[in-house]
Amino acid sequence: MSEQGPDKRRRAAQLDPEQTAAVLAPRGPVCVLAGAGTGKTRTITHRIAHLVEDGHVAAGQVLAVTFTSRAAAEMRARLRALGVGGGDGAPGVQAVTFHAAAMRQLRYFWPRAIGDTRWQLLDNKFPIVGRAARDCGLRPETDTIRDLLSEIDWAKASEITPELYAEAVERVGRTAPVAPRTVADVYAAYERRKTDQDGNRLLDFDDLILMTAAILDENHQVAEEFRDRYRSFVVDEYQDVTPLQQRLLNAWLGERDDLTVVGDANQTIYSFTGASPRYLLDFTRRFEDATIVRLQRDYRSTPQVVELANKVISAATGRVAGTRLELVGQRPAGPRPRYEECDDEPAEARLVAERIGELLAAGVPASEMAILYRINAQSAVHENALTEAGIPYQVRGGDSFFERPEIGQAIRELSGRATESGSVEGDELVGLVSATLERLGLTAEPPDGARARERWESLRALVELTRDLLAERGGLTLIELLSELRSRAEAKHPPTMQGVTLSSLHAAKGLEWDAVFLVGLTEGSVPIAQAIAKGEAEPIEEERRLLYVGVTRAREHLQLSWALARNEGGRRGRKRTRFLDVVAAEADDGARRPPAQASGGPIRGKRRSSDTCRVCGKILDTRDEKLKSRCEDCPSDLNDDLLMALKVWRTGQASEQKIPPYTIFSNATLFAIAEHQPRTRAALVRINGIGATKADKYGEDVLSLVHEHV
Ligand code: ATP
Ligand code: MG
Repeated sequence: MSEQGPDKRRRAAQLDPEQTAAVLAPRGPVCVLAGAGTGKTRTITHRIAHLVEDGHVAAGQVLAVTFTSRAAAEMRARLRALGVGGGDGAPGVQAVTFHAAAMRQLRYFWPRAIGDTRWQLLDNKFPIVGRAARDCGLRPETDTIRDLLSEIDWAKASEITPELYAEAVERVGRTAPVAPRTVADVYAAYERRKTDQDGNRLLDFDDLILMTAAILDENHQVAEEFRDRYRSFVVDEYQDVTPLQQRLLNAWLGERDDLTVVGDANQTIYSFTGASPRYLLDFTRRFEDATIVRLQRDYRSTPQVVELANKVISAATGRVAGTRLELVGQRPAGPRPRYEECDDEPAEARLVAERIGELLAAGVPASEMAILYRINAQSAVHENALTEAGIPYQVRGGDSFFERPEIGQAIRELSGRATESGSVEGDELVGLVSATLERLGLTAEPPDGARARERWESLRALVELTRDLLAERGGLTLIELLSELRSRAEAKHPPTMQGVTLSSLHAAKGLEWDAVFLVGLTEGSVPIAQAIAKGEAEPIEEERRLLYVGVTRAREHLQLSWALARNEGGRRGRKRTRFLDVVAAEADDGARRPPAQASGGPIRGKRRSSDTCRVCGKILDTRDEKLKSRCEDCPSDLNDDLLMALKVWRTGQASEQKIPPYTIFSNATLFAIAEHQPRTRAALVRINGIGATKADKYGEDVLSLVHEHV
């Protein structure tokens, strides 16, 4: 715990003065209110590391919560990087979703607080809601069951009981899918159906939270033990807390106030589930001596992306909108966002796949790209186009990784090996895992067909996860691997796969990628038809915020697209989303681009990314400009001559070895070489994308090119 160690100083240098103020604030209430990409998540992870390192609290006494398992995984990764993620037998900071935290606590406290009756997690409510509806004399269609289920979810998250449901709907002006009385009856029947005659219970996700809060509220002994165990609380994305989750948070805290929250009211996108930014906005009312920090500098995205984000949200109205701050981009300039209007959805998907192919060729890894859409059903057309283009991908929000049958099967097979090979470790372990998975279908090359491919991708991800864990821990046995897999399965933390991410806008919150494709941006999709149908301002505002969340996920490349028809040759009756009216001129450009060869201009969709300026995104004309990847008059912070020489050299190498140029060095790596101009092998391997193997193979060539051009 060195007070002024190099680690600590290095870390301090990674924070700006406002972030530092939040990190160093004394124990007690802290609230960071700031826009997207301003480093809120970074700030809280550093704050946790600071509190732990300065001995204010032990890592195991900190509970950090957020809302999606992916965001929790992101937080854990960042905490590990800061050295407070646990390991070597010491408990680390717990960074989990509200649900995972509640589940863990309930498992622990249930026997003591409730006793003999048992509970089981109900992770699919659908059949029970269906039965409950039939109990009430309904003959519901699938869609009606789904609507009833959302109503029950909303009511439970808002702490509204069946008895109070009808009145609450009236009070908040909510439109119920069927008569409010009927919803209330189904809701009550649903609750009854979850307990059997012996008192054993099925608990849905909200029950986990409700039960845990109730136990802490009512059982002093349990509450005391809990509060002794957890002393410091942190909530990321606090604008999306529901009244029920807030109740649990209150139960955790008791009379204490060691709570750090961060959030952005303009990213409130879960109102339909009962989430509300009022707890964030009223934080200082509740904790009068809270430290408040506002952040404005956007470290995630290029100024071009930030400009669009600011424009999109500037049109917002209402209380939430009043809290926004204009983001100020901190990164070097990048390409302008692209706007693409397509005839139909398959064409849109092909265009996106093609562009992804170009970015891959330019060295952007697949794992650094995402396609984001409004509803999960929109993924199918993009899955097809990507499969056709041979681009690996994974879908978020489908079956979660550990729920996939092949992963369950793989874990069972590996467990079967544990008796004889439990202590196998290191490379041997990776070998054992690969061999086991080969028998389950992990071939050297991916198979054809979307399903088979998905299965293959997840098996491969399991091998990658094993490698990662091994590298991270410096050693790992089969027994340890299995225990890690089980605990991840419980927390549903999937390993990152090496494919393009397909995700709904909702599930993308808090995450970031180098390249983001926002697709299906039509009226009826964003804003979604149901929001338009309500004819009220607030549902539309929520959709606007959703687009804002989407735009702000991109670090560098951003493409916004929409299709005029659903099917090929279909009626082109759709309209671009109203939210892009703030950039009408640019967006109109996307629509007016000449069709193939019409004006002798570039052929649509055939344009190569190396043919656009890396600073302003304009299409380049001359060979010289293309080699430098920028216009003659755009500013440059790197040695252009060297860059050109490197590209020429790479082209030569590629044709000599008959391999694609990007497998030698990506464009990003070439830019980095031209920027840093390394003179020694040691300096060369410090550059991203150059490991020992590449240095052995190409180091001499590169160093002599640097020598020649500097
Ligand atoms: P969101 O609202 O989308 O959740 P956020 O405010 O949580 O965004 P972070 O994810 O913490 O933002 O940070 C955005 C990016 O900026 C991350 O890649 C992070 O590492 C980087 N970043 C944050 N602060 C700094 C800083 N002071 N210097 C350099 N990079 C930073
Ligand atoms: Mg964040």
